[in-house]
Amino acid sequence: MLGPVILAASRSDRMRRLISAAPVTKQVVDRFIPGETVADIVPIIKDLTGKGLELTMDVVGEDITTPEQATAARDAYLALIDHLKELELGEKVEMSVKLSMFGQALEGGHELALANVRPVVEAAAAIGTTVTLDAEDHTTLDSMFAIHEELRKDFPQTGCVIQAYLFRTEADAKRLAEAGSRVRLVKGAYKEPAEVAYQQKHEIDKAYVRILKTLMEGEGYPMVGSHDPRLISIVQELAHKAGRKLDEYEFQMLYGIRGDEHLRLAAEGHRMRVYTAYGTDWYGYFMRRLAEKPANLRFFLRSMVSK
Ligand code: FAD
Repeated sequence: MLGPVILAASRSDRMRRLISAAPVTKQVVDRFIPGETVADIVPIIKDLTGKGLELTMDVVGEDITTPEQATAARDAYLALIDHLKELELGEKVEMSVKLSMFGQALEGGHELALANVRPVVEAAAAIGTTVTLDAEDHTTLDSMFAIHEELRKDFPQTGCVIQAYLFRTEADAKRLAEAGSRVRLVKGAYKEPAEVAYQQKHEIDKAYVRILKTLMEGEGYPMVGSHDPRLISIVQELAHKAGRKLDEYEFQMLYGIRGDEHLRLAAEGHRMRVYTAYGTDWYGYFMRRLAEKPANLRFFLRSMVSK
Protein backbone atom coordinates (compact mmCIF):
# COMPACT_ATOMS: atom_id res chain seq x y z
CA MET A 1 0.00 0.00 0.00
CA LEU A 2 2.79 2.41 0.90
CA GLY A 3 4.82 1.90 -2.27
CA PRO A 4 2.58 3.96 -4.63
CA VAL A 5 2.39 6.82 -2.10
CA ILE A 6 6.18 6.98 -1.83
CA LEU A 7 6.51 6.77 -5.62
CA ALA A 8 4.10 9.70 -6.01
CA ALA A 9 6.21 11.64 -3.49
CA SER A 10 9.33 10.79 -5.49
CA ARG A 11 8.05 13.02 -8.33
CA SER A 12 6.91 15.89 -6.09
CA ASP A 13 9.12 18.99 -6.02
CA ARG A 14 7.75 20.01 -2.63
CA MET A 15 8.64 16.65 -1.07
CA ARG A 16 12.04 16.75 -2.80
CA ARG A 17 12.82 20.10 -1.15
CA LEU A 18 11.51 18.94 2.21
CA ILE A 19 13.30 15.60 2.36
CA SER A 20 16.53 16.74 0.71
CA ALA A 21 16.83 19.47 3.35
CA ALA A 22 15.80 17.23 6.27
CA PRO A 23 18.40 16.14 8.79
CA VAL A 24 18.44 12.64 7.34
CA THR A 25 20.95 10.32 8.93
CA LYS A 26 23.74 10.08 6.39
CA GLN A 27 23.98 6.40 7.15
CA VAL A 28 20.46 5.82 5.78
CA VAL A 29 21.21 7.45 2.42
CA ASP A 30 24.72 5.94 2.31
CA ARG A 31 23.32 2.46 2.40
CA PHE A 32 22.15 2.96 -1.20
CA ILE A 33 24.28 5.90 -2.40
CA PRO A 34 27.73 5.37 -0.90
CA GLY A 35 29.38 8.64 -1.94
CA GLU A 36 28.91 12.14 -3.31
CA THR A 37 32.04 12.63 -5.43
CA VAL A 38 34.31 10.65 -7.73
CA ALA A 39 36.92 10.78 -4.96
CA ASP A 40 34.45 9.08 -2.57
CA ILE A 41 33.53 6.40 -5.06
CA VAL A 42 36.94 5.32 -6.41
CA PRO A 43 37.87 3.35 -3.22
CA ILE A 44 34.48 1.61 -3.40
CA ILE A 45 35.07 0.69 -7.05
CA LYS A 46 38.48 -0.75 -6.10
CA ASP A 47 37.07 -2.64 -3.14
CA LEU A 48 34.15 -4.24 -5.02
CA THR A 49 36.12 -5.16 -8.14
CA GLY A 50 38.83 -6.57 -5.83
CA LYS A 51 36.15 -8.94 -4.49
CA GLY A 52 35.39 -10.28 -7.97
CA LEU A 53 32.32 -8.10 -8.58
CA GLU A 54 31.65 -5.99 -11.67
CA LEU A 55 29.97 -2.61 -11.51
CA THR A 56 27.65 -0.31 -13.37
CA MET A 57 27.99 3.29 -12.21
CA ASP A 58 25.11 5.76 -11.89
CA VAL A 59 25.77 9.44 -11.23
CA VAL A 60 22.45 10.17 -9.51
CA GLY A 61 20.16 12.78 -11.02
CA GLU A 62 17.04 12.90 -13.19
CA ASP A 63 14.24 15.20 -14.34
CA ILE A 64 16.58 18.19 -14.79
CA THR A 65 15.04 21.50 -15.88
CA THR A 66 17.74 23.39 -17.84
CA PRO A 67 20.13 22.52 -20.70
CA GLU A 68 23.04 23.58 -18.46
CA GLN A 69 22.15 20.82 -16.00
CA ALA A 70 22.16 18.34 -18.88
CA THR A 71 25.65 19.47 -19.87
CA ALA A 72 26.75 19.15 -16.25
CA ALA A 73 25.42 15.58 -16.18
CA ARG A 74 27.41 14.73 -19.31
CA ASP A 75 30.53 16.25 -17.75
CA ALA A 76 30.06 14.35 -14.49
CA TYR A 77 30.08 11.06 -16.41
CA LEU A 78 33.08 12.16 -18.47
CA ALA A 79 34.99 12.97 -15.27
CA LEU A 80 34.13 9.54 -13.89
CA ILE A 81 35.32 7.85 -17.09
CA ASP A 82 38.60 9.80 -16.83
CA HIS A 83 39.18 8.26 -13.40
CA LEU A 84 38.18 4.80 -14.63
CA LYS A 85 40.78 5.06 -17.39
CA GLU A 86 43.51 5.14 -14.76
CA LEU A 87 42.07 2.10 -12.98
CA GLU A 88 42.23 0.06 -16.21
CA LEU A 89 39.21 -2.06 -15.33
CA GLY A 90 37.72 -2.14 -18.85
CA GLU A 91 34.26 -3.67 -19.09
CA LYS A 92 34.34 -4.64 -15.41
CA VAL A 93 32.95 -1.14 -14.76
CA GLU A 94 30.30 0.18 -17.11
CA MET A 95 27.98 3.19 -16.85
CA SER A 96 24.21 3.43 -16.40
CA VAL A 97 22.54 6.66 -17.48
CA LYS A 98 19.07 8.17 -17.19
CA LEU A 99 18.21 10.16 -20.30
CA SER A 100 16.02 12.54 -18.27
CA MET A 101 19.28 13.71 -16.68
CA PHE A 102 20.66 14.43 -20.16
CA GLY A 103 17.76 16.74 -21.10
CA GLN A 104 15.22 14.31 -22.60
CA ALA A 105 12.19 16.13 -21.10
CA LEU A 106 13.27 19.63 -22.18
CA GLU A 107 12.26 21.33 -25.43
CA GLY A 108 13.97 19.46 -28.28
CA GLY A 109 14.85 16.95 -25.58
CA HIS A 110 15.20 13.85 -27.73
CA GLU A 111 18.00 15.42 -29.80
CA LEU A 112 19.51 17.12 -26.74
CA ALA A 113 19.68 13.86 -24.78
CA LEU A 114 21.23 12.06 -27.75
CA ALA A 115 23.80 14.84 -28.23
CA ASN A 116 24.72 14.76 -24.53
CA VAL A 117 24.87 11.01 -24.10
CA ARG A 118 26.88 10.29 -27.28
CA PRO A 119 30.20 11.67 -25.92
CA VAL A 120 29.73 9.55 -22.78
CA VAL A 121 29.23 6.41 -24.88
CA GLU A 122 32.27 7.35 -27.02
CA ALA A 123 34.46 7.94 -23.96
CA ALA A 124 33.31 4.65 -22.40
CA ALA A 125 34.14 2.77 -25.62
CA ALA A 126 37.59 4.40 -25.68
CA ILE A 127 38.43 2.77 -22.32
CA GLY A 128 36.98 -0.60 -23.32
CA THR A 129 33.63 -0.39 -21.61
CA THR A 130 30.06 0.59 -22.35
CA VAL A 131 26.88 2.36 -21.29
CA THR A 132 23.40 1.06 -20.49
CA LEU A 133 20.36 3.32 -20.87
CA ASP A 134 18.14 2.99 -17.80
CA ALA A 135 14.36 2.77 -18.27
CA GLU A 136 12.36 5.57 -16.68
CA ASP A 137 8.58 6.08 -16.76
CA HIS A 138 6.66 4.68 -19.74
CA THR A 139 6.20 8.06 -21.47
CA THR A 140 9.97 8.29 -22.05
CA LEU A 141 10.55 4.86 -23.54
CA ASP A 142 9.92 5.39 -27.27
CA SER A 143 12.55 8.12 -27.18
CA MET A 144 14.92 5.95 -25.10
CA PHE A 145 14.63 3.00 -27.52
CA ALA A 146 15.15 5.31 -30.53
CA ILE A 147 18.29 6.78 -28.91
CA HIS A 148 19.47 3.25 -28.09
CA GLU A 149 19.03 2.20 -31.72
CA GLU A 150 20.86 5.30 -32.95
CA LEU A 151 23.80 4.78 -30.57
CA ARG A 152 24.05 1.11 -31.49
CA LYS A 153 24.85 2.04 -35.11
CA ASP A 154 28.29 3.17 -33.92
CA PHE A 155 28.46 1.43 -30.54
CA PRO A 156 26.59 -1.89 -30.86
CA GLN A 157 27.40 -2.87 -27.29
CA THR A 158 25.26 -0.03 -25.83
CA GLY A 159 22.71 -1.63 -23.51
CA CYS A 160 19.17 -0.77 -22.52
CA VAL A 161 16.70 -1.67 -19.79
CA ILE A 162 13.25 -3.21 -20.14
CA GLN A 163 10.62 -3.36 -17.37
CA ALA A 164 8.56 -6.52 -16.81
CA TYR A 165 5.58 -4.59 -15.39
CA LEU A 166 4.80 -2.91 -18.73
CA PHE A 167 2.48 -4.66 -21.19
CA ARG A 168 4.66 -3.50 -24.11
CA THR A 169 7.79 -5.23 -22.82
CA GLU A 170 7.18 -8.74 -24.16
CA ALA A 171 7.20 -7.29 -27.70
CA ASP A 172 10.24 -5.10 -26.92
CA ALA A 173 12.11 -8.15 -25.61
CA LYS A 174 11.43 -10.13 -28.81
CA ARG A 175 12.74 -7.22 -30.89
CA LEU A 176 15.82 -6.76 -28.71
CA ALA A 177 16.84 -10.42 -28.23
CA GLU A 178 19.15 -10.31 -31.25
CA ALA A 179 22.83 -11.06 -31.64
CA GLY A 180 25.08 -8.45 -30.05
CA SER A 181 22.39 -6.78 -27.94
CA ARG A 182 22.74 -6.25 -24.18
CA VAL A 183 19.45 -6.03 -22.33
CA ARG A 184 18.84 -5.60 -18.61
CA LEU A 185 15.48 -6.95 -17.44
CA VAL A 186 14.01 -5.43 -14.26
CA LYS A 187 10.56 -5.54 -12.66
CA GLY A 188 10.10 -1.75 -12.93
CA ALA A 189 10.36 0.98 -10.29
CA TYR A 190 7.97 3.78 -11.34
CA LYS A 191 4.30 4.41 -10.57
CA GLU A 192 2.53 3.33 -13.75
CA PRO A 193 -1.22 3.36 -14.56
CA ALA A 194 -3.25 0.16 -15.05
CA GLU A 195 -3.67 1.02 -18.77
CA VAL A 196 0.00 0.29 -19.43
CA ALA A 197 1.30 -1.90 -16.61
CA TYR A 198 0.51 -4.90 -14.42
CA GLN A 199 -0.29 -3.75 -10.88
CA GLN A 200 -0.12 -7.03 -8.96
CA LYS A 201 3.20 -8.49 -7.84
CA HIS A 202 2.32 -12.02 -8.98
CA GLU A 203 1.43 -10.74 -12.48
CA ILE A 204 4.71 -8.81 -12.71
CA ASP A 205 6.70 -11.84 -11.56
CA LYS A 206 4.99 -14.07 -14.15
CA ALA A 207 5.69 -11.53 -16.90
CA TYR A 208 9.32 -11.33 -15.72
CA VAL A 209 9.75 -15.09 -16.21
CA ARG A 210 8.13 -15.03 -19.68
CA ILE A 211 10.40 -12.18 -20.80
CA LEU A 212 13.46 -13.77 -19.23
CA LYS A 213 12.74 -16.91 -21.27
CA THR A 214 12.63 -14.83 -24.47
CA LEU A 215 15.97 -13.20 -23.62
CA MET A 216 17.65 -16.47 -22.61
CA GLU A 217 16.44 -18.26 -25.77
CA GLY A 218 17.42 -15.29 -27.93
CA GLU A 219 20.85 -14.38 -29.22
CA GLY A 220 21.62 -11.30 -27.12
CA TYR A 221 23.28 -10.94 -23.73
CA PRO A 222 20.71 -10.95 -20.89
CA MET A 223 21.46 -8.88 -17.78
CA VAL A 224 19.18 -10.00 -14.97
CA GLY A 225 18.42 -7.06 -12.68
CA SER A 226 16.67 -8.49 -9.62
CA HIS A 227 17.21 -9.42 -5.97
CA ASP A 228 14.30 -11.85 -5.93
CA PRO A 229 15.61 -15.25 -4.70
CA ARG A 230 12.91 -17.17 -6.60
CA LEU A 231 13.84 -15.45 -9.85
CA ILE A 232 17.56 -15.97 -9.28
CA SER A 233 17.06 -19.74 -9.25
CA ILE A 234 14.70 -19.62 -12.27
CA VAL A 235 17.39 -17.66 -14.16
CA GLN A 236 19.89 -20.45 -13.62
CA GLU A 237 17.38 -23.09 -14.77
CA LEU A 238 16.45 -21.14 -17.92
CA ALA A 239 20.07 -20.36 -18.75
CA HIS A 240 20.94 -24.04 -18.41
CA LYS A 241 17.99 -25.09 -20.62
CA ALA A 242 19.00 -22.53 -23.25
CA GLY A 243 22.56 -23.94 -23.23
CA ARG A 244 24.12 -20.71 -21.98
CA LYS A 245 27.49 -20.80 -20.27
CA LEU A 246 28.14 -18.76 -17.12
CA ASP A 247 29.69 -15.91 -19.10
CA GLU A 248 26.75 -15.67 -21.51
CA TYR A 249 24.49 -13.75 -19.12
CA GLU A 250 24.95 -11.82 -15.90
CA PHE A 251 23.21 -10.96 -12.67
CA GLN A 252 22.85 -7.35 -11.59
CA MET A 253 21.82 -6.05 -8.17
CA LEU A 254 21.77 -2.68 -6.47
CA TYR A 255 24.48 -1.55 -4.08
CA GLY A 256 23.21 -1.92 -0.52
CA ILE A 257 20.70 -4.68 -1.23
CA ARG A 258 21.53 -8.35 -0.51
CA GLY A 259 25.30 -7.76 -0.48
CA ASP A 260 26.00 -11.33 0.68
CA GLU A 261 24.14 -12.64 -2.34
CA HIS A 262 26.38 -10.56 -4.65
CA LEU A 263 29.41 -12.31 -3.20
CA ARG A 264 27.79 -15.75 -3.17
CA LEU A 265 26.88 -15.60 -6.87
CA ALA A 266 30.31 -14.25 -7.83
CA ALA A 267 31.98 -17.04 -5.82
CA GLU A 268 29.90 -19.59 -7.77
CA GLY A 269 31.48 -18.24 -10.97
CA HIS A 270 28.61 -16.02 -12.10
CA ARG A 271 29.13 -12.56 -13.53
CA MET A 272 27.66 -10.31 -10.86
CA ARG A 273 27.40 -6.59 -11.58
CA VAL A 274 26.56 -4.15 -8.79
CA TYR A 275 24.63 -1.02 -9.76
CA THR A 276 26.44 1.64 -7.75
CA ALA A 277 24.95 5.12 -7.50
CA TYR A 278 26.73 8.20 -6.20
CA GLY A 279 26.31 11.97 -6.26
CA THR A 280 24.37 14.66 -4.45
CA ASP A 281 21.03 14.61 -6.31
CA TRP A 282 19.96 11.39 -4.60
CA TYR A 283 16.30 12.12 -3.89
CA GLY A 284 14.54 10.25 -6.76
CA TYR A 285 16.83 7.21 -6.57
CA PHE A 286 16.54 7.02 -2.79
CA MET A 287 12.75 7.32 -2.77
CA ARG A 288 12.39 4.44 -5.25
CA ARG A 289 14.50 2.27 -2.92
CA LEU A 290 12.17 3.21 -0.04
CA ALA A 291 9.09 2.38 -2.13
CA GLU A 292 10.42 -1.09 -2.95
CA LYS A 293 10.52 -2.12 0.69
CA PRO A 294 8.31 -0.41 3.30
CA ALA A 295 10.68 -1.57 6.07
CA ASN A 296 13.22 0.87 4.56
CA LEU A 297 10.72 3.69 5.09
CA ARG A 298 10.25 2.82 8.76
CA PHE A 299 14.04 2.81 9.23
CA PHE A 300 14.29 6.15 7.41
CA LEU A 301 11.52 7.80 9.46
CA ARG A 302 13.05 6.55 12.70
CA SER A 303 16.37 8.11 11.67
CA MET A 304 14.64 11.46 11.10
CA VAL A 305 12.94 11.58 14.48
CA SER A 306 16.03 10.41 16.33
CA LYS A 307 18.11 13.33 14.93
P1 FAD B 1 11.33 -7.51 -5.29
O1 FAD B 1 10.26 -8.54 -5.30
O2 FAD B 1 10.94 -6.08 -5.20
O3 FAD B 1 12.36 -7.81 -4.15
C1 FAD B 1 12.89 -9.09 -3.88
C2 FAD B 1 13.68 -9.03 -2.59
O4 FAD B 1 14.82 -8.17 -2.76
C3 FAD B 1 12.92 -8.37 -1.43
O5 FAD B 1 12.15 -9.32 -0.75
C4 FAD B 1 14.05 -7.81 -0.59
O6 FAD B 1 14.67 -8.82 0.15
C5 FAD B 1 15.03 -7.36 -1.63
N1 FAD B 1 14.81 -5.94 -2.00
C6 FAD B 1 14.30 -5.46 -3.17
N2 FAD B 1 14.30 -4.11 -3.17
C7 FAD B 1 14.79 -3.73 -1.98
C8 FAD B 1 15.06 -2.47 -1.39
N3 FAD B 1 14.81 -1.33 -2.02
N4 FAD B 1 15.59 -2.45 -0.14
C9 FAD B 1 15.88 -3.59 0.54
N5 FAD B 1 15.65 -4.82 0.01
C10 FAD B 1 15.12 -4.90 -1.22
N6 FAD B 1 13.94 -0.06 -12.42
C11 FAD B 1 13.53 0.70 -13.47
O7 FAD B 1 12.35 1.02 -13.58
N7 FAD B 1 14.44 1.13 -14.41
C12 FAD B 1 15.76 0.78 -14.37
O8 FAD B 1 16.53 1.18 -15.24
C13 FAD B 1 16.20 -0.05 -13.29
N8 FAD B 1 17.49 -0.44 -13.19
C14 FAD B 1 17.82 -1.36 -12.23
C15 FAD B 1 19.11 -1.91 -12.22
C16 FAD B 1 19.42 -2.95 -11.38
C17 FAD B 1 20.80 -3.54 -11.42
C18 FAD B 1 18.45 -3.44 -10.47
C19 FAD B 1 18.73 -4.58 -9.55
C20 FAD B 1 17.19 -2.87 -10.42
C21 FAD B 1 16.87 -1.83 -11.28
N9 FAD B 1 15.60 -1.26 -11.27
C22 FAD B 1 15.22 -0.44 -12.31
C23 FAD B 1 14.68 -1.47 -10.11
C24 FAD B 1 13.73 -2.62 -10.36
O9 FAD B 1 12.77 -2.25 -11.32
C25 FAD B 1 13.00 -3.02 -9.05
O10 FAD B 1 12.27 -1.94 -8.57
C26 FAD B 1 13.93 -3.50 -7.94
O11 FAD B 1 14.98 -4.26 -8.47
C27 FAD B 1 13.16 -4.36 -6.93
O12 FAD B 1 12.68 -5.52 -7.57
P2 FAD B 1 13.30 -7.00 -7.34
O13 FAD B 1 13.40 -7.63 -8.69
O14 FAD B 1 14.56 -6.92 -6.61
O15 FAD B 1 12.18 -7.80 -6.61
